[in-house]
Amino acid sequence: MLKSGIYTQLAPVLFGSGTAGQTGEKVKALGCQKVMLVSDAGVQEAGAVDIVKKSLEMAGVEAVVWAEAETDCPEGTVKAAAAIGRAEGIDGVVGVGGGSVLDTAKAIAAVTPNDDQVLDDVLLYLTGQKNYANPPIPIIEVPTTAGTGSESTFVAVVSSDKLDCKIGLPVPPSYGIVDSELTKTVPPYITAFTGMDAFSHANEALTEQKNTPHSDLLAFEAIRLIKENLPVAVQDGNNSQARDCMAFASNIAGISFNEAGVHIGHSAAHALGHLYHLPHGVCCANMTPAVIWFAAKSYPEKMKRLGNLMGAEIASDDPDEIGRQAAKAVREFAASVGVKAFKELGLTKEQVLKVKGMVYGDALCMSFGGEVTEQDVEEILAYAYDC
Ligand code: NAD
Repeated sequence: MLKSGIYTQLAPVLFGSGTAGQTGEKVKALGCQKVMLVSDAGVQEAGAVDIVKKSLEMAGVEAVVWAEAETDCPEGTVKAAAAIGRAEGIDGVVGVGGGSVLDTAKAIAAVTPNDDQVLDDVLLYLTGQKNYANPPIPIIEVPTTAGTGSESTFVAVVSSDKLDCKIGLPVPPSYGIVDSELTKTVPPYITAFTGMDAFSHANEALTEQKNTPHSDLLAFEAIRLIKENLPVAVQDGNNSQARDCMAFASNIAGISFNEAGVHIGHSAAHALGHLYHLPHGVCCANMTPAVIWFAAKSYPEKMKRLGNLMGAEIASDDPDEIGRQAAKAVREFAASVGVKAFKELGLTKEQVLKVKGMVYGDALCMSFGGEVTEQDVEEILAYAYDC
């Protein structure tokens, strides 16, 4: 019998090279007349903001450009932008950028029609103990990296001052526009770690409690596409085929993990990224081999299939051996595209192990589809450092 579960796709996605030029008409069809176009300095310099702004203008939608989003969505930036949004009377938000921008856009869409208290109460919203007084205004997400899949996930990952950690504010997007042309300006290193972020979504979705045959299908296909196309996209950023496949892989990995969830690797990546100011994708890439090794104890067949997709040619049926071989293949793959290991980044093993208390017991960590003990978390963190 196949495992039962709920299939989810939050919002329609317009996928294809050149589709960013249709943003204006899609925004208009959602009933918006004046939107905030949210981005950051790097994306604006790369030209993506101009493409979307022009499209909005052609559709007769007024755009207030706010390109001051910052890495990992600090809550202060959301409050500042929402104040502008209220003063300008916006009725929608268009996010054009990487995950930091897309999450900032989502959070602005929730805070603007409510108030800043939403961010202080983020945990209450995440756990369903509180609902928005006013629903978020429409959010149209246009990713410019191939990594987060945030255009298809229900949370905005916000850096909370009050909680001193990264936490998810539930804000489902209204529409996603995935145009790989916009990703061609992403530099090689950012291409590499954002690609490994998408890989980590697919990997963790396979072994989260809520995984379904549907989320598995998307996850395995994302892994196959990333294995084939990430090295090409890193090597030759203008390769349309590789960029397109990576954009698709990122989106379907996002749909997969929005349905199933992510777990231990993301719990650790959020803690490590927040503590040591490392890019999210770098932390995910470093945690992924250890998560595979651990998950193979409960899911040997899936991790064997993953390892073989990554070229490991695993013959053994022993879960520990499967885990080690698959983990090694993924670690070598991440290194081959230029993602450095924790120790190469100057972290000590003690620094990595320090997050054990933040990870064990965290809801994300405990959503792994099997038992996780405190000792397991310590061993996973140690494996991530050593492998
Ligand atoms: P990012 O958005 O932080 O961007 C990294 C850098 O790349 C920035 O300097 C940006 O200016 C630059 N950049 C982006 N697109 C570019 C382009 N086309 N050309 C040139 N430069 C470009 O990086 P990211 O990895 O996409 O996002 C990471 C964030 O996303 C983290 O905060 C993470 O927690 C969050 N995230 C959210 C979800 C979700 O479901 N909401 C999922 C995964 C990650």
